[in-house]
Amino acid sequence: MFDVIIAGCGPTGAMLAAELRLHDVRVLVLEKETEPTSFVRIVGLHIRSLELMAMRGLLDRLLQHGRQRPAAGFFAAIPKPAPKGLDSAYAYLLGIKQPTIERLLEEHATELGAQVRRGCAVAGFEQDDEGVTVELADGEQLRSRYLVGCDGARSTVRKRLGVGFPGEPSRNDTLMGEMKVGVPQEEIAAKVTEISGTHQRFWLRPFGEGVYSVVVPAAGVSDRAEPPTLEDFQQELRTIAGTDFGVHSPRWMSRFGDATRLAERYRVGRVLLAGDAAHIHPPTGGQGLNLGVQDAVNLGWKLAAQIRGWAPETLLDTYHAERHPVAEDVLDNTRAQMELHSPEPGPQAVRRLLTELMDFDEVNRHLIEKITAIGIRYDFGAGPDLLGRRLRDIDVKQGNLYGLLHRGRGLLLDRTERLTLGGWSDRVDYLADPTAALDVPCVLLRPDGHVAWIGDDQQDLDDQLSRWFGKPAD
Ligand SMILES: Cc1cc2nc3c(=O)[nH]c(=O)nc-3n(C[C@H](O)[C@H](O)[C@H](O)COP(=O)(O)OP(=O)(O)OC[C@H]3O[C@@H](n4cnc5c(N)ncnc54)[C@H](O)[C@@H]3O)c2cc1C
Repeated sequence: MFDVIIAGCGPTGAMLAAELRLHDVRVLVLEKETEPTSFVRIVGLHIRSLELMAMRGLLDRLLQHGRQRPAAGFFAAIPKPAPKGLDSAYAYLLGIKQPTIERLLEEHATELGAQVRRGCAVAGFEQDDEGVTVELADGEQLRSRYLVGCDGARSTVRKRLGVGFPGEPSRNDTLMGEMKVGVPQEEIAAKVTEISGTHQRFWLRPFGEGVYSVVVPAAGVSDRAEPPTLEDFQQELRTIAGTDFGVHSPRWMSRFGDATRLAERYRVGRVLLAGDAAHIHPPTGGQGLNLGVQDAVNLGWKLAAQIRGWAPETLLDTYHAERHPVAEDVLDNTRAQMELHSPEPGPQAVRRLLTELMDFDEVNRHLIEKITAIGIRYDFGAGPDLLGRRLRDIDVKQGNLYGLLHRGRGLLLDRTERLTLGGWSDRVDYLADPTAALDVPCVLLRPDGHVAWIGDDQQDLDDQLSRWFGKPAD
């Protein structure tokens, strides 16, 4: 009997497993693939994800494997510099290979004690009042108290759960892969310059050792899970460029669409959804992996609280209440970005207008805060603007704030030095007189770094501790 079974060891599943292990939850991750993914897709980790990695002590490991780039040019790839003074200690983009992120997150989860079983596909499940019986493709049955589907866009868990996944189907598929070419680099560069001005989904970029990263629009759309063939690449390259550049010896080949869909519910009883299993959208702006990792950090401590027995009754449902609107907003901004990528005259005129508007710092800042997820404010009720937002990393007497959040516990920052945690001190840490940089008397942070309360009154604090952290221990 496990506490939680997670279907899928992609970035979302691995991050969730680690978050649960911070609270000693018995976690099993079931991954259908026998080997880690080999698709060398370079993805961007945005500011909020970098902050979360810093909050869990993972950022230094990631920085060793990626390249820092300016936090700019994300929205529909409109080339504008980052606004000045972005409110974060980690105001950059980290370009890093997705397999590297997955490896590091899986290592982190297993170091914390999560079990990962590869070559195990979840085929179905039944839930009852006490738990979930999970059935694997080979017929084996496993039992857990909760099941979380982190099994990607074609999620078996979501389908078996019967949760609706409304939205728009893919209108355009794109082929993507790495392969060798048979013509000189200059010839390729000239063609790419000529064509990529009008086609956003076309490029050939040298990847080292004569290998190119190739992206080309596919003819039609396909719901096939199988990768495309080399012949598919050759044909589409000839269609768009008049030559197939002599491509051969592919390392890997893949296809992705631009469907936009959002699960109607993130939780049904003891089964939950996170990451691409809950939401899909085109990759423009580079938000999908970030969104999934952030789902995991929002869900982890709440599910752990439920299992440890101290969760207030409605805590687990705040996962849907908080994260569903965030995904809705991401889906909308990718819809808008996709329109701005259209070569049609109308969208191109809107693109030019938005490009002008982005010269206004507030417009540029709004868009960057949206894409990088530092603009998120959860609805915790009426209160100061900081309530419901994440607190940026700040210097405190003991070092930096995020360094105090590695264990995934709540944190009370008390400048008054008068407040006490009482029976909540087994779940929440206390820091007296943290820093003059904090311009409010006291702040209660949730384990995900969001501000749950601001004030200076003990009774108010106790009410909010109950709201987020349940009944105090005796
Ligand atoms: C071209 C491209 C570029 C992208 N660029 C970016 C970017 O720059 N930034 C960004 O944030 N995002 C980007 N994304 C999106 C990102 O890759 C995904 O959002 C991310 O991989 C989602 O992570 P996940 O863990 O939720 O799902 P997945 O990565 O899909 O992982 C799901 C896992 O579940 C496993 N699985 C599936 N079914 C089962 C089953 N039945 N049982 C057990 N295991 C199962 C799969 O094998 C897989 O390992 C890009 C996507 C594409 C296509």
